[in-house]
Order: sequence, then C-alpha cells, then structure tokens
Amino acid sequence: MSFQSLGLSEALLKAISKKGYTTPSPIQAKAIPPVLQGHDVLASAQTGTGKTAGFTLPLLHLLSENPKEKYRPIRALILTPTRELAAQVYANVKEYSEFLNLRSAVIFGGVNQKPQAATIRQGIDILVATPGRLLDLESQGLLSLKRVEIFVLDEADRMLDMGFLRDIERVMKLMPDKRQNLMFSATFSKDIRKLANGILKRPIQVEATPENTTVDAITQKIYRVAKAKKTDLVIKLITEGNWKQVLVFTRTKHGANKLVQKMMKANIKAAAIHGNKSQGARTKALAGFKSGSVSVLVATDIAARGLDIPLLPHVINFEIPNISEDYVHRIGRTGRAGANGEAISLVSADETSFLRDIEKLIGMKLPVTIMEGFEPDPNASTVPIKPGQNRRQQPRNSKPKGGGNKSKGNTSSNAGGRNRNRNKSRNRSNDRRSNS
Ligand code: AMP
Repeated sequence: MSFQSLGLSEALLKAISKKGYTTPSPIQAKAIPPVLQGHDVLASAQTGTGKTAGFTLPLLHLLSENPKEKYRPIRALILTPTRELAAQVYANVKEYSEFLNLRSAVIFGGVNQKPQAATIRQGIDILVATPGRLLDLESQGLLSLKRVEIFVLDEADRMLDMGFLRDIERVMKLMPDKRQNLMFSATFSKDIRKLANGILKRPIQVEATPENTTVDAITQKIYRVAKAKKTDLVIKLITEGNWKQVLVFTRTKHGANKLVQKMMKANIKAAAIHGNKSQGARTKALAGFKSGSVSVLVATDIAARGLDIPLLPHVINFEIPNISEDYVHRIGRTGRAGANGEAISLVSADETSFLRDIEKLIGMKLPVTIMEGFEPDPNASTVPIKPGQNRRQQPRNSKPKGGGNKSKGNTSSNAGGRNRNRNKSRNRSNDRRSNS
C-alpha cells in the first residue's frame, strides 16, 4: 500500500514525502479512500495512529479539487476538544497543504480573539477550532459556517468527557444539512454511538486498533507502591533509567505542580502542563519537551490530549485514572508509529478498584512489580481517593471507614466534566472552559 495508490493529488504526495512518510498507517489506508469517495466516516483511532493525516489529507484533496471562490467561505471545519490538539491539527493542515492553494486558520480560547478574527476576515477555506471560541466568534458575527462542506469531529469521546455535547449540537445547527461528516474517537461508548447517529449519515466505519484495547507495541507495567513513596519511586525510575523524554500523568493540577518542584530539586528537568497554565507557558513547556531541554512533562489528562510528540518512549501514570478509557488515551502517547514504548503505572492501595476497571476494559491483567524499598503499605485503605467522582458509588473491595466520602472540594483538574454523566453538558467543568 502506498500513498500514490490511495489516489491523493501530486501536491499532497509532495507534502507527504517532505514529511518523510513512506507508507500510510493502517487508519490512513482505511479512512482515506471512503473520505475521498465522499462518504461519512466513523473512525476508531487513538492518538498516535496517524489519524490526523487520515482525515486531513483527503479533506485537502477534496477541497482543492473543487474550484474556489474569490470570496473564501469556510468550507471545512475541524472541531477539537483542546487548544493543544487544535494547534497540532492546524500545524498538520499547514504542512500538508503547503503546495495547495488553500488557506487555513486555527481559533481557540485563552488568547486574544482579534488576530483570529482578522485572519478569518481575509477568507479561509479550513478552520480548526475548539467549540467555545468558535461559538463565541460566530455569535459576534465574525465567522459563518453556512458554507461548510466537510465537518470533522476529532476526539469525539473527549469532547463528551469535557461536556461539549451541547456546544457540538449548537455548531451542527450553524452548518448546512448537506455536508460530509467525519468523526474520530479512541473509544466507543453508548454516548459516542448516539452522537454518531445524530451527526453521520450512513457512515463507513473504520478501525485502526480494536476497540478499547491498548497498542501491542506498548509494554505495560504496574508498580504497587505506598502512596507516600510514589514521588521517590518516579524520581528513581527516571534517574536510574536515564530517561530523557517522559510524559507523567497526575490526577490534579496541584499534584502536577508539586511533582515538578520535587523533580527539579532532584535535578530532573521537568515542566507542568495543565489548564491553569497560560497558553504561553504551555507552549513553552511543550516546545522544551520536544527540543529536549525539558526531560519530563507532567500533565493532567485534558492538557495532554492532542500533544504531538512522536516516538515517545515512556509514559508514567503517577496516579492511574478513575475513568478507565483515559488509561487507553494516556498510554496511547507512547509506542507511536510502530515504535516500542513503555507505560508504567504507580498504583497505591486506594487505586485498586481503578486498576481492576482498567484491566476489565483492556481485557488483560497487567503485570505487577514491587520495588524493594518502595513496597505498598499493607495497612492502607483501598477506598478510592474521590469516591464522589468514581463511576461506582462503592468500590468492590473497600471497607469504608466513616463513610469514605469526605473528599474535600474539587481539586481534580477535571472536576465536573469528568464525572460519568458525559452527556450532561450543563455540568461544564473548569477545564472545559479553560481548554476552549
Ligand atoms: P496522530 O495520530 O495524527 O497524532 O499522528 C501521530 C504521529 O505519527 C505524528 O507525529 C505524525 O506526524 C506521524 N505520522 C502520521 N502519519 C504517518 C505515516 N504515514 N508514517 C509515519 N509517521 C506518520
């Protein structure tokens, strides 16, 4: 299978070869032909599979085939859940369209809207956007979606997690009924299928990896460890392994900051990336991570979505997620483009039920290691950290002491939008706002 055989134009083949791609990834081989044929497509693909090119290349091909108008209306809309993903997708759109006469722009919240509005006013063919800023500019009359021919909903599962359902529905009403729709999601819950039914017409379904399973190239390892010893263990693993590019996930923004401080003290070059950081700080941290001046990027789930870091060798879950699908997303950051990766999870007693849920979802038991000097605390409670945010009210193997429901406030970076009521979009979380 080659890119030529997929029927992409010369201008696109030139851009692809400039990027250094030789063969289409499985999701590209499966998604590109039906998109070129004009079908709606429902694709199951996690980050790292090459999904962005999977929808961008045929989209560019289709737009460049049709004659453009002097006044350029927005003809393609790519909706993404986070700023980082929007910026990443836009960077790809720019690269792949280098030899085409197509204009594109990206808009997201957290930065001044004026330059974004000015670019759109000049006329663009492709708009990459997060929902909040898109609706904002539209309501001010600064953009119109009335001429959209192709609509891409990227990382649809994350959109729902972040409480964007109502926004997506509003966006749909602003576009013409007759259009091509492409929807990408790493996981396929009932809610996602419902959303797909509302958006897609007779879609062709394509899959890059089996649903809810983790990529084979990733070695997964669990360290059972006492909660109080996690920081020392993670520092030991990174230092002794001499790891130079590690993505570490924490549950909270505060936890991310604290861990970065401890790592810096241990002479590890670390930076945090989460919703409370300014766009400038996030961009700087990511650039440092990519260039190698930062070895460890500590991130919360939402901030990490869409980060494009090819061939990431190590992912560490400082805390494992209470939403099992997030585990699949997180470890999807490694083992990219066929390279081997290692995903390590530090699991304390209070995360036992989360681990069981993850193993159930991915359909396998994960190998457990105990490091000498970092043994789990045999007396620690197995009551989950934030019972109120967990799917189940009572963990299976817990012995709640005094109710176990005393978690204070909402320190989670993912707060309201991360509960399981994915389609109750009125529960907008802080991160939903800060990411759009
Ligand atoms: P994505 O899943 O779209 O985030 O892409 C993951 C990574 O794979 C990015 O760094 C892309 O540049 C890279 N990539 C996409 N398509 C290919 C391909 N056909 N061959 C090699 N690398 C690719």
